Amino acid sequence: MPTIKNIGVIGAGQMGSGIAHVCAASGYDVVLMDVSDEILQKAIAGITKNMDRQVQKGKLAEADKAAALGRIKTSTDMAAFGDSDLVIEAATENEALKREIFKKLVPNLKAEALVATNTSSISITRLAASTDRPAKFMGMHFMNPVPLMQLVELIRGIATDEETFSAVRELTLKIGKTAAVAEDFPAFIVNRILLPMINEAVYTLYEGVGGVEAIDTALKLGANHPMGPLELADFIGLDTCLAVMQVLYEGLADSKYRPCPLLVKYVEAGWVGRKVGRGFYDYSKNPPVPTR
Ligand code: NAD
Repeated sequence: MPTIKNIGVIGAGQMGSGIAHVCAASGYDVVLMDVSDEILQKAIAGITKNMDRQVQKGKLAEADKAAALGRIKTSTDMAAFGDSDLVIEAATENEALKREIFKKLVPNLKAEALVATNTSSISITRLAASTDRPAKFMGMHFMNPVPLMQLVELIRGIATDEETFSAVRELTLKIGKTAAVAEDFPAFIVNRILLPMINEAVYTLYEGVGGVEAIDTALKLGANHPMGPLELADFIGLDTCLAVMQVLYEGLADSKYRPCPLLVKYVEAGWVGRKVGRGFYDYSKNPPVPTR
């Protein structure tokens, strides 16, 4: 089975930062890559803040925090993945973009390097086909926020070999997560179930059945969900939610997955949730204020 020591992460947004955080905290050397130094600096600041929180809660020793941060290197150049045993792609949820990334990535990798994608919904088999190593490619779907959420969905493409699957499953356990294996169908297990619920919550808002606060309160107190669906949508990112619904709609060819027009409008407005300060809530206020 391939040994994983050095891990590359593509995309330093909410997910890539979280993946770099947990891998470094578990002793792996990490190269975190994105398109600009500014984004990378912001990511390191975010990881530091999240580790500080873990230190305050007694979940991480101060010395281990410093060591973990020291294990994360940043780069805007794919050449930095030359020593990586596994590269995890966590860039924006857009198939054309991801295919382009894989095309540029593979010439920089050693022959035995494995590649995983954190896609929320896109076909693993199709993404694998855009690399030179479909047998060494699979889905490794982390949940947000990565340091707190226990689950990683593992998804084989049609060509994924057992060695790759075993190595990635072992890594998942070593970073303290629990694996659930899903087949390569649009949006896998978690998002196949979760995103239609969120989309339905947006329809409920769109049709005026309830306001933002009423919908979130209803699901929190009425279904015992820890977060309301609109609050959760803002947390995931409305652009990601819309992209997943489009993959479900197109991939399963069933009109029940059509994205709510209000979700489309929010994304068109750039109101994509917490990461930009506005979505179904306005995060410039404390506590956040519902926008409808
Ligand atoms: P995000 O918008 O926070 O981050 C995406 C990052 O990708 C940005 O920093 C962007 O600059 C970077 N990027 C774009 N093009 C790039 C390129 N060519 N090379 C390198 N980096 C590039 O998004 P996110 O929430 O972190 O989502 C990333 C991936 O993780 C998506 O595939 C998404 O579906 C998946 N995912 C998201 C969640 C969630 O709850 N947000 C959960 C599980 C999986």
